Amino acid sequence: MRYFSVESLKDDEVGHWSGEYRARHRWHISGVECPRYGVWAGMDAFPSVDLSKVAEPALAEWKGPTSLAEYQRLTALVRPHVPPELPVRAGGTFGPMVGTAQGKFGPVTCHPSWEVVLREDAVELLNAEGLNGVIAVRMELRSRRSTMPALYELEARPLARLHPDCIGEWKTPACDLCGKPESFSLPPKRWLLRSTVPEGLDVFGVEGANLHVVSERFVETVQRLGPSDVHYQEIDAR
Ligand SMILES: [Zn+2]
Repeated sequence: MRYFSVESLKDDEVGHWSGEYRARHRWHISGVECPRYGVWAGMDAFPSVDLSKVAEPALAEWKGPTSLAEYQRLTALVRPHVPPELPVRAGGTFGPMVGTAQGKFGPVTCHPSWEVVLREDAVELLNAEGLNGVIAVRMELRSRRSTMPALYELEARPLARLHPDCIGEWKTPACDLCGKPESFSLPPKRWLLRSTVPEGLDVFGVEGANLHVVSERFVETVQRLGPSDVHYQEIDAR
């Protein structure tokens, strides 16, 4: 199986589509001020996770970093509601994106670069073709155009890892006080550690890298619906 990361168009490239959205996930955990590491927030996004049963207003407020004690209180409240294979960390967002949208959207949208959005017919086709691991969560978007098709955020669970040989020297170690994972800058030439590639899934994410990786089958399927304003960059597994 060949794999590709979904990438945004470059700034000077002209796309086919005018669609834009402004939206945020319904719940989030603020950044943390860790006494050892300092202030940080990651970018995990798990729209499929429902936190509506967690009665904690702080999860719906967007504000600056919190103390370690408050952060530990919030992560302990959230943890039981999140599948065990997913991290609960500072900056993590959960639930559907809520906001506004305008213009016309292609089958796949990737803007900003760390979010991938599917048009309704793309989700339907991927499901009809029996692709595996497509977690697409309907966005709650208001639009002036009543005919706008529904849009879905594609969730990329960080199941795979980059190969250690493609990650450079610059790394910061994990922190056991606040749970900050080891971090690195995304190498321009990168490949996956083969033993971590989840067998049989057509969509997954990469730990520490904010990438949406999709299979060749995914690419071929959505391309049947016409052009999208994205690039598919092949990513090897070794
Ligand atoms: Zn820390």
